[in-house]
Amino acid sequence: MTCDFFSFAAPGVRTLQPYQPGKPESELRREYGLDDIVKLASNENPLGPSPQALTAVRGALTDLARYPDGNGFELKTALAAKLEVSMAALTLGNGSNDVLELIARAFLTPEHEAIFSEHAFAVYPLVTQAIGATARIAKAHAPDHVMPHGHDPAALLALINDRTRLMFIANPNNPTGTWLRSAELRNLLEAIPESVIVVVDEAYFEYVGAEADCPNALHWLDHFPNLIVTRTFSKAYGLAGLRVGYAVSHPQVADLLNRVRQPFNVNSLALVAAVAALEDVSHLERSRTVNRVGMQQLQDACRQWDLTWLPSVGNFLCVDVGRPGREVFVKLLQRGVIARPVDNYGLPRYLRISIGAEAENARLIEAMHDVLRG
Ligand SMILES: *Cc1c(COP(=O)(O)O)cnc(C)c1O
Repeated sequence: MTCDFFSFAAPGVRTLQPYQPGKPESELRREYGLDDIVKLASNENPLGPSPQALTAVRGALTDLARYPDGNGFELKTALAAKLEVSMAALTLGNGSNDVLELIARAFLTPEHEAIFSEHAFAVYPLVTQAIGATARIAKAHAPDHVMPHGHDPAALLALINDRTRLMFIANPNNPTGTWLRSAELRNLLEAIPESVIVVVDEAYFEYVGAEADCPNALHWLDHFPNLIVTRTFSKAYGLAGLRVGYAVSHPQVADLLNRVRQPFNVNSLALVAAVAALEDVSHLERSRTVNRVGMQQLQDACRQWDLTWLPSVGNFLCVDVGRPGREVFVKLLQRGVIARPVDNYGLPRYLRISIGAEAENARLIEAMHDVLRG
């Protein structure tokens, strides 16, 4: 008889529900024998990375036998200058997912609790549970609120107790797209005791337009020593495949995060690509424009179908499809379009659609039209 390895596992790991990624194009090709597939499922940049980032990657290929710079000196130098923070405030990660895990490992124990909202990014429960810490989930805003299903500051605050060590806030949140406005987030931070580390996850920061009043939490780091802001090169910078993200925090917090970090967690291609991507301001500007135009294109189509959506300042739209989102997802797959069902986020009637290039959005719209009529 073989061992029951499940019984050996750490309790949090035993009951862990693995992260469900967007369906890869290659999988759809295999399963359905389709080519000409449009993937709008993982909030990737349809323009891809900056050409300058690709040039930097090619240049770094000759050095692949060498270990990367474990301190990421050049990327930290570039980030510190760009963000106007000290290098000692930075922690680099293998994607910001890695950083979120470092934060959990550095601060949580099985005696502690982490707070986050309903419908928040799925990695927060994962990293909390893997440590054996307790997740406390705050009710989100009601569907008829101006930010339907968005984070509710009062509900988050109400869960704080002596065991609370962490709070995760996605701003804007994925998959809803909703956000806390400047005054709301600022007041929430003011009300949280300093003994609670607050992570403000700004994965979509570069897409946020000024009119949204969605804050740049970096401005508040000096005022709130318990604040950690995380960002990534996976979304607007188009480098999801290389895995690089970072945290900005109090230097003492950064010191702790860097203690639990693997010595070479960010690879050499990612490091040079990220530096080059930061410099290419015009590529980022183009990416923002494509997103703005595509967002309009998709919202116009939704209006024609009489479908509503959640407010979004990211590069995706969470659409109420008026029936099980997974049903629509499967029918779109048959038409070569990959979107994202969000029933696992407690939003069974919604479909999350990433904004693509104009032609990709048109394909999605055509396929949706077909599905909704059929
Ligand atoms: C995509 C995403 C991330 C990070 O992804 P990485 O690729 O690991 O940097 C983090 N938070 C949210 C809310 C996201 O949607």
